[in-house]
Amino acid sequence: MSDNILHIYTPESLNSLITLYHKFPQALLYAGGTEIMRNLGTRELSGEIISLEGVPELDHISRTESYLEIGSCVSLNRLLGIGRHVLTPALNQAISSIGTTVTRNFATLGGNLSMRERWMYLIPVMLLLDVRVEIRRQGNTSWLSMVKYLEKAPHLACDELITRFRIPLETWNIQEYRRFSSVDFGKSNNLTFCGIANVQKGYIQRFRLALGAHGSLIIRNREVENTLEGKKLPLNSRDIQPMKELLDQTLANVKPPLTSIQKKLASRSVLWFITRKLDEGIEEI
Ligand SMILES: Cc1cc2nc3c(=O)[nH]c(=O)nc-3n(C[C@H](O)[C@H](O)[C@H](O)COP(=O)(O)OP(=O)(O)OC[C@H]3O[C@@H](n4cnc5c(N)ncnc54)[C@H](O)[C@@H]3O)c2cc1C
Repeated sequence: MSDNILHIYTPESLNSLITLYHKFPQALLYAGGTEIMRNLGTRELSGEIISLEGVPELDHISRTESYLEIGSCVSLNRLLGIGRHVLTPALNQAISSIGTTVTRNFATLGGNLSMRERWMYLIPVMLLLDVRVEIRRQGNTSWLSMVKYLEKAPHLACDELITRFRIPLETWNIQEYRRFSSVDFGKSNNLTFCGIANVQKGYIQRFRLALGAHGSLIIRNREVENTLEGKKLPLNSRDIQPMKELLDQTLANVKPPLTSIQKKLASRSVLWFITRKLDEGIEEI
């Protein structure tokens, strides 16, 4: 018998998907297929494939007063269609930086977070926004914070899948996402930066920073964030110096280590964010 036999299942409801995945836990879940096809190269798909495309519950978007709820199979372009203010500007920027519009037509939010062997580009921003992730398997549903999800993701059971996300609709009036990658850098110098803050009456009420690198590293240090909370804008050098020292220490000690270009880019992005971007909030008094 050929090893290349392909069985494609197309469940039409979440319940039948969960039952089917429990029955075939080794099956490959196929959402938008962009990452699957990219990794496949010239090889062919084989074995059990479960297509998520026809499951309406996974393609649903709804909004309450406190959060935006998004099914795992909603495409990145459909998310951009929600509008940057509802989706939040940093997430909007992060999604817009992924692939081309053709890729984003197929690529899904769930697919971006489901790579067990590496972290994709949306993770730092989703971490800062306190996005919650729903994981389902037969007989069990759990909602995880992004921190818990990142701990659990490499150990998800074979029949567990992501079904929904909840993005809190909080006031973060200053937001920035930046992605540094270029053919000249080479893959090892990729870096993503995300900063969000709530600035009210000229003071930093809340402040968060995260960086992503190497596809395996997410850097966030609450101590760095705490040094600036409550400070008046614009920041002076006495505010900035302790924060910069802590940041440099953090960047110097992460594993796997950052390259010198990554460290410079990370440090410059953070300094730009706190000395320029945060000041935009002063004008909103
Ligand atoms: C040209 C190109 C450029 C790209 N650029 C970027 C980029 O800049 N940044 C970036 O982050 N990514 C990039 N990608 C990767 C990819 O497009 C995105 O990460 C995308 O969001 C993956 O979604 P998908 O639906 O296509 O996933 P798929 O390819 O369908 O699935 C990816 C993996 O996730 C699993 N999976 C999918 N949905 C679920 C679920 N609900 N629960 C559990 N497991 C699931 C699948 O089984 C598979 O293992 C690029 C891809 C291409 C082809």
